[in-house]
Amino acid sequence: MQPEPFLFRITFSKMESFRRCRKQYWFSYISGEDWPPSRESPASLVGNGVHRAMQKLCETGDPRDGEHELDLYLRMPSHAIAGPETEHYVLAREIYANGVKAHESIESEARFAELDTWVPAKSRGINVRSKVDRADRLSADRWQLIDWKTGKFDLDDRVDWQLDIAHLVLRTMMRLPKEASVRALGWNLRSGEQRVRELTRDDAVRTVDYIMRFVRTIEGTEEWPATPGPACTFCDWRDRCSEANQLGETGIDWLDEDWEKESAPF
Ligand code: SF4
Repeated sequence: MQPEPFLFRITFSKMESFRRCRKQYWFSYISGEDWPPSRESPASLVGNGVHRAMQKLCETGDPRDGEHELDLYLRMPSHAIAGPETEHYVLAREIYANGVKAHESIESEARFAELDTWVPAKSRGINVRSKVDRADRLSADRWQLIDWKTGKFDLDDRVDWQLDIAHLVLRTMMRLPKEASVRALGWNLRSGEQRVRELTRDDAVRTVDYIMRFVRTIEGTEEWPATPGPACTFCDWRDRCSEANQLGETGIDWLDEDWEKESAPF
């Protein structure tokens, strides 16, 4: 029997890490070091809680199921920073109330929550993983997928790229016919803003081809420099990153270098 070909496993998070800071990518996927515990924040707990609530709402259609899930999640002792006595708990409930209105505004033949799978593309040597928060069949060849957002604002390019990858999951898991088209929504339940992509099978092929070329770039990379910046605030590896810690202690000392003064870039 022929051995299975090696497929490079890739996710949106992995690609983002590579874009953001090569050293962070190295820590996470190459070094073999044990992952540090994630840095939980009130915002991340609110986001997780609302996503769980929206999943239950999608599954049963009864807002009480999502409300109960949200309350249970934020009442967990380990989530006390966003617990019932806090402003974050109130905010989470407001965001979920917007989610209920969003749910009620969607008319579809069938709906599905939390589609999550690997999409292997053997001819391209990659295996892509992503997740769809909610999918709706609007008609036989017309679908909608939603990526719920709960932050104060979203970065458009990140949302677009997440939607393009989520599109692969929807086409794969629901076995969409070639002619099916998909409206992909990044729907912010806090601001009400929607980011919309209209996607076809051809777009899915181009997305896979782009990911394949991105992966080739990763595979050809030999240097993993640290690029400290705002992302360090949320980086799980910060405590082990000498460059980030050094920057925190000394500030940007290259501004004092003679050569830099002479070139006077600012
Ligand atoms: S702390 Fe900053 S510089 Fe260090 S790995 Fe993380 S993102 Fe990169």
